[in-house]
Amino acid sequence: VERGLHVRIYAPYGPLIPGMGYLIRRLLENTSNDSFLRHSFVENVPEETLLRNPLETTHGSMGGWEHGGAEALGNGRKRGADIAEPEAAHTPTPPHSTPEFHNEPETDFAVAENRERMAEAIARVRAELGRRYPLVINGDEVNTDEVLTRPNPSNAAEIVGVIAAAGPKEAECAIAAARAAFPAWRDTPAGERADILFRTARVLRRRRFELAAWEVLEVGKPWRESDADVAEAVDFLEYYGREMLRLAEPRRRDIPGERNEYFYEPRGVAAIIAPWNFPLAILTGMTSAALVAGNTVIMKPAKQSSIIASRLMQAFQEAGAPEGVLHYLPGPGEVVGPALVEHPDVALIAFTGSKEVGLGIYASAARVVPGQRDIKRVIAELGGKNAIIIDDDADLDEAVPGVLASGYGYTGQKCSACSRVLVLDSIYDAFVGRLAEAARSVKIGPAEDPGTMVGPVVDAGARNRILRYLNIGRQEGNVLVQVDPGPLTDQGYFVPPTIFTDVSPEACIAREEIFGPVLAVIRVKDLDEALAVADSTLYALTGGLYSRSPGHIARARREFRVGNLYINRKITGAQVDRQPFGGFRMSGIGSKAGGPDYLPQFLVPRTVTESTLRRGFAPEVEV
Ligand code: NAD
Repeated sequence: VERGLHVRIYAPYGPLIPGMGYLIRRLLENTSNDSFLRHSFVENVPEETLLRNPLETTHGSMGGWEHGGAEALGNGRKRGADIAEPEAAHTPTPPHSTPEFHNEPETDFAVAENRERMAEAIARVRAELGRRYPLVINGDEVNTDEVLTRPNPSNAAEIVGVIAAAGPKEAECAIAAARAAFPAWRDTPAGERADILFRTARVLRRRRFELAAWEVLEVGKPWRESDADVAEAVDFLEYYGREMLRLAEPRRRDIPGERNEYFYEPRGVAAIIAPWNFPLAILTGMTSAALVAGNTVIMKPAKQSSIIASRLMQAFQEAGAPEGVLHYLPGPGEVVGPALVEHPDVALIAFTGSKEVGLGIYASAARVVPGQRDIKRVIAELGGKNAIIIDDDADLDEAVPGVLASGYGYTGQKCSACSRVLVLDSIYDAFVGRLAEAARSVKIGPAEDPGTMVGPVVDAGARNRILRYLNIGRQEGNVLVQVDPGPLTDQGYFVPPTIFTDVSPEACIAREEIFGPVLAVIRVKDLDEALAVADSTLYALTGGLYSRSPGHIARARREFRVGNLYINRKITGAQVDRQPFGGFRMSGIGSKAGGPDYLPQFLVPRTVTESTLRRGFAPEVEV
């Protein structure tokens, strides 16, 4: 204090038992393998290492150093004090000087200036509400008689915009244009294609607050999650751009007298069919992967998030995406979806959405129609029924907020959301008691209110479906906590976040994806039973374990078979590159988004072998 530095002293205060618990927790933290105190006092790590600039240690070698800092922020993403600001959208990035990939920092809304900028962005976007949005086919704006009208989920009387709705005729035009543009785009150097992604990333960074504001108003996503969605979209652009540069280098396996080359080519026309819940990130991820690989793309957003998608279209255009290469085709899924999926000239379908729609697409894409040359490649990322196991020695200070954040984040409308909590018998009552207290304090409100933890659900259809499940839940378990949204219910699509206890693993609310703020708490005898119940649904997307036992953690690593397993942290908020995302079984076919196996799905590998024994001298020709 004398030196003018901030000093914070923690002192347990109050009843003895929680106080002791607090001290034990500090002891555990300070003695953990990653603790600064342990490194300095026990392991005698040199001061220079301990005091190294964290920026130098954040990549690869970071290990546990992030734990006390970034992890405490909730989702592990580094926070920047502020947002990187505009750069000229058209500066080309030379492919070989591309810097290493870094995740885009989230906005720190504790900084007053950032809060002001977000509030201003919402006001600016509000001034634009009610506009009409045409399709974009081959660079032309196309209006249609049919339209989609999008209300603000937080306040259904407010119309966010009116979007042209494509039908089979428009799909046909877009596919014809995409097909015509394919050969030239295929033969465009990968570095140039990647540059378009990098430039699009710059446009998104520049318009970051505005895009987040559109998400707040169009899909009812609260501030922080909208901001994180924009950051993730930037990550996909930066990551897949780099991935393509990596894959563009042909692999050579020459022996004397024989030249062998292995390289990739794009597949053709790609239909990108996206959900609304990560309205910018998922659409950007699938679209940018298809584009940078050299496919031409028809972008079909969900009807609930078509305006944000139009902003993305604009960003790609500003970044120089050629006209025939990318088309914006919003419309009702059941009309324009089949027109794309069943078309003989579509070679690839990248879909993210529900199991029902995804399996339908998989089946119809398998039917070969006259004129079709490709066996269609389907990449389908589907739903989940994700469980978190609470072990008997779990740290409840971590587990309770982790479960709530995983279950209630974006009103439970994440494919990764927790919807089942499997609690070991001996800790069941203690956990449930604390979960109830925490859940009662959840603040429900409109998405544009920065204090909102739980906002509305996306539309009336989602609300009605969730309300039906709440009725079923009342027969299948006991209501532990249900927070009434009160008068908000008359204004927007609000549902009461609800926790059911004493639910049987066979119950409908324990097996079916609800896609809302509904948690089923299930009592299990031990870890064996917990793992068996965790594995008993059709899905295998995300899962989590709160435990202090190294043995149990090791078992979960092996036996908790889901696409993304999280230990002692929340189960949502996967990061591009660090936690490539996606599941298996009925959670999808496709390799994890944001990971090294994703891009090859959009490509066809080819091998060329040439015998060079008797050709005499031939100069090397660039191919
Ligand atoms: P959805 O299946 O209703 O719609 C997804 C897309 O498919 C939309 O663009 C829709 O218009 C289109 N569509 C609808 N009917 C179609 C048809 N017959 N043919 C072709 N396209 C059609 O899903 P949603 O409500 O937008 O999203 C929520 C679902 O997505 C949840 O099940 C969630 O778990 C899943 N999801 C999965 C992931 C993942 O990475 N695994 C990520 C996000 C969402």
